[in-house]
This record gives sequence, C-alpha cells and structure tokens, in this order.
Amino acid sequence: MTDRDEGAPRPQTISAAHGVATDAGFGAVAPPLYLSSTYAFAGYDQPRHYDYGRAGNPTRDLLAEALAKLEGGAGAIVTSSGMAALDLLVGRLRPDDLVLAPHDCYGGTMRLLKARAGRGHCSVRFVDQTDMRAFAGALDEVPALVLIETPSNPLMRVVDIAALSALARAAGAEVAVDNTFLSPAIQRPIALGADYAIHSTTKYLNGHSDVIGGAVVAADPAQVEALRHWANVVGSAGAPFDSWLTLRGLRTLFPRMEQQQINAMAVANHLERHPAVARVHYPGLASHPGHAIASRQQRGFGAMLSFELAGGVAAVRRFIDAVRFFTLAESLGGVESLVAHPATMTHADMGEEARAAAGISDSLLRLSVGLEAERDLIAGLDKGLAACRA
Ligand SMILES: *Cc1c(COP(=O)(O)O)cnc(C)c1O
Repeated sequence: MTDRDEGAPRPQTISAAHGVATDAGFGAVAPPLYLSSTYAFAGYDQPRHYDYGRAGNPTRDLLAEALAKLEGGAGAIVTSSGMAALDLLVGRLRPDDLVLAPHDCYGGTMRLLKARAGRGHCSVRFVDQTDMRAFAGALDEVPALVLIETPSNPLMRVVDIAALSALARAAGAEVAVDNTFLSPAIQRPIALGADYAIHSTTKYLNGHSDVIGGAVVAADPAQVEALRHWANVVGSAGAPFDSWLTLRGLRTLFPRMEQQQINAMAVANHLERHPAVARVHYPGLASHPGHAIASRQQRGFGAMLSFELAGGVAAVRRFIDAVRFFTLAESLGGVESLVAHPATMTHADMGEEARAAAGISDSLLRLSVGLEAERDLIAGLDKGLAACRA
C-alpha cells in the first residue's frame, strides 16, 4: 500500500483535469467561465452559494482549488497579481510586526515592503538568508512573517526551506515562500514546513504570458478563511477571465516544466563551457553552491538561470543586439524564451548600492528558457555570444 488512496489523484491529474466535466447544466468538459458580477438570491433572505463577485466566483474558486491541491494547502486565494498576493499577507500586518525578507528578493517585493514600512504599516529587515548565522540572528528580533524566495531572482541562490521554516516557526514567525520560480510541479513549500506558498501566476502557472495574476495558498484552514475575508475587505480578487485563462494554462504545467527544464539544463551546460561567459548561475549545475539543497528539496532545477558575460556592459549590449530566439523582456515562465538585463530592467529600482550588495553585477543577464527546440536556443545564444568578441 502507498500513502495515496485510490481516490486521491496525483498532482499531474489535478493539473490536467481538476474540474473537468463537472458542469451540471450541459456537461461541458471545459469548465465554464462565469463572468457575472452578481448572483440572484433564491428568495427573501435566501442567498445562494455566491452572492457577489468580489467575495467569490465559481471560475476563480476552481482555480483556487486546483492550486491549493497542487501546493498541498487547505485553500487558496486568487488575486489580481503576484504583488496583490504578497500584499494580502503584508497588508494584514500591524505596525509593530516585523517582516524578515531576503536581501535579494524580487524587486517588486522589495518595493512593496519598503513602501509599507515607510508608511508605518509594518517594519522590514532584509537579510542574506543563505547565511544561517545572519538569519538566526535576525530571528532574535521576533519577526511576525518570514518571507523566503528560492531559487532567488536573479542569482538563483537556493536556501533550505525546511531548515529556515523550522527556525522561523520556533521563533514564533509565520513562513511564506514565494514559489513563483519553480511552481508546485517542482517544489512544494508547505510540505517542507511553510505556512504559505505565494505565486505570481503570471509566470509558470499560467505559462503563456497573457495574464497578470497571483495566489496565496495557506496550510491552515483558519488562515484560508482569514485571507478570504481580507481579500474581500481590500478587493484584491483576480478577474474571472484571468482565472479561466490561468486554469487553461495550468493544464499543461507538468509537461511544460519538464521540457523547459531540460532545455534550461542544456543551455546552462553550453554557457558554462563558453569562453565569452564568466559565470553561470543555475542550480542544476554541480558547480552551483545550492546544487545539493536543490537536489534534495526540488523535483528538478527549473528553467530560470542567469550568467555573467566576461566582456562587461559593452558585451551585454552586443549580446542583446545579436541574440536570437530570446526576446529582451521582463517576466518569465512563459512558453517563449526571454532574456532580461536585471541592472537596467527588473532590478533597476533597487539602486546601484543594493544591487552591488546582493551581487547583481552590470554584466549579468537572466534567461527564462522556453519550449523552443534546444538546438535553436543554443544557436540563438551563440549568435549573441559570438558578437561579444567584436
Ligand atoms: C513576477 C514576480 C512577482 C510579482 O508578480 P506580478 O504578477 O508581476 O505582480 C513576485 N515574485 C516573483 C518571484 C516574481 O517573479
């Protein structure tokens, strides 16, 4: 016997088919899209399951259910963006609550935390979470919420979720892991001890670069209810059509992730051998400092990586002009490959000093590796790398 009874579908099945063929009205195989903002009462003082779209929507709830199951949580709240998901947790904090966040967290997350702290809504401390002593020391300040991002953006630093969660929870903090870079197909933070898994569903979960969305999955049913209440109070719910598109994208999450990480591994190996490249940051490489932890806590190494060009900023310009099949754009996690220059794009707001402290150099480029043919991707990169020498 396994621990999985016959009735409990595996994650791949949830992803591909949760809610399929459950339409009572017409037997629609693809779950219908309910756009209605309001719902008729059955009669005087007789509300039905849904009354108003900010509080609840069947399409959004179906996506939330699928995400909660995939992350192994008690429930999920689907929000209008990844930032709205993060703010669903941060916005509930009190002025004397401290958030402990990674010093190299997502740029938008850093901006949100600084903006909230700047207005006195909470306080925030940024720490290098790969430094266990610094992390444990920061816990002495008794944070209310510890935010973890692994792998980090853009250097792909990996931290041990189980170890950090155990320490944080022993110190009385709640733990939220931003799981955007891997998705539950590869990493499940709640099983490793986190209280929340957070997503920008804009990225891998939707996977097609045509929706901005987010989600918070909570381990504890009471927290699911509290977050549902708060999302209705502040009005951060995701739109029904966005939810429907995201559910459609979610159908192929597992095969997308599988193929994209195969492509990423090939790209990383190629870059690591190339003379125009000074360094490659990809947890799948044995040379990566987080390789052992990633091998243990992930079901693969994901499809994000970054690398430093040997020729500095001049080489970056030439590379970007000449590279093929990688579009110069922010964001990640779509079926198409993208390249970003963190110093002038995703991490520009952070400021030079904070970037230097976090190890984000001007010659760093980040890749989101898509579903194109591996050979095309490598040939496309070679065009850019050959131009670096010019
Ligand atoms: C994109 C992203 C966010 C923000 O999500 P939006 O959907 O753009 O609001 C948060 N965290 C990480 C790691 C991200 O990549």
